[in-house]
Amino acid sequence: AKGMGKSTYCFYDEKINNSLMDKIELQSELRTAIENNEFDVYYQAQIDLEKDRIVGFEALVRWNHPTKGLITPAGFVQVAEETGLIVPIGQWVLLEACKQLKQWEEAGFTEINIAVNLSARQFKDADIVETVCEVIKETKIDPNKLELEITESIALENMSYSIAMIQKLKSIGVKFSLDDFGTGYSSMNYLKHLPVNNLKIDKSFLDTVMEDQNDQKIVSTIITLAQTLDLVVIAEGVESNEQAVFLKNVHCDKAQGYLYSKPIPQKDAGFLLEKLRER
Ligand code: C2E
Ligand code: CA
Ligand code: CA
Ligand code: CA
Repeated sequence: AKGMGKSTYCFYDEKINNSLMDKIELQSELRTAIENNEFDVYYQAQIDLEKDRIVGFEALVRWNHPTKGLITPAGFVQVAEETGLIVPIGQWVLLEACKQLKQWEEAGFTEINIAVNLSARQFKDADIVETVCEVIKETKIDPNKLELEITESIALENMSYSIAMIQKLKSIGVKFSLDDFGTGYSSMNYLKHLPVNNLKIDKSFLDTVMEDQNDQKIVSTIITLAQTLDLVVIAEGVESNEQAVFLKNVHCDKAQGYLYSKPIPQKDAGFLLEKLRER
């Protein structure tokens, strides 16, 4: 009986230890990954619905794990955020995306913008202004072509800080997008106070928009109201032609989703641009 009791105890203990071990292991692997430069930036096209043209790309981080292969943010961003490792990773993504932007600009794609996600940690760190300034200086990009994305929940956590921070960064010339709009306690009321340029309607609205009449009304109302506030509206997660037609009908400005392109490596994004230039 003594042995059994012990093994039962061990069973629970192991379970707890496993998830803790997983986290600790992931943490140390992430540190190595930063040192060894195991990250990659993928790019997902953003389409101007009226012009029917690629007008930008969102930079999305990927981890090229030496044994596990390509890992999407779902597998590591949370631990990276908790440990603060997201800050050096995010800075690298920003630099990389801006270098790419410059390269495309020099190749003649002068209309292309680039969007980069800022984590909560990055946004809450006052050094972010200096970091962004340095990256712009180093890569010599036109700051107007850089869009920084923060989620609605980050923006709402501390409104006065967010407003001040967005204003500071906008004074350098960069633009701001409110990401995942509609997933938090969104109210159109706070929107008029946040000095963002773009609003990204979350994929969850688009998922049901073709079946649900109410969702159609909500989406078209969000678009109309946002445009009244001079915001550019981007629909996320557009997967079907039907959705695209609906979005065009309600005058949504831009769209992003698998219908147009999945996030792809830098080289493929370059090919995509070349192919469209020949059209
Ligand atoms: P997000 O910023 O909302 O990015 C959009 C996510 O939706 C991407 O997932 C993209 O691949 C996916 N997506 C786009 N279109 C479609 C579609 O039509 N259907 C479906 N099913 N999915 C679509 P991804 O690349 O896995 O990134 C997930 C999240 O990780 C991002 O959500 C963002 O919050 C975060 N993330 C990605 N890269 C970075 C980064 O460099 N820094 C930080 N802080 N966060 C990042
Ligand atoms: Ca985003
Ligand atoms: Ca989003
Ligand atoms: Ca999202």
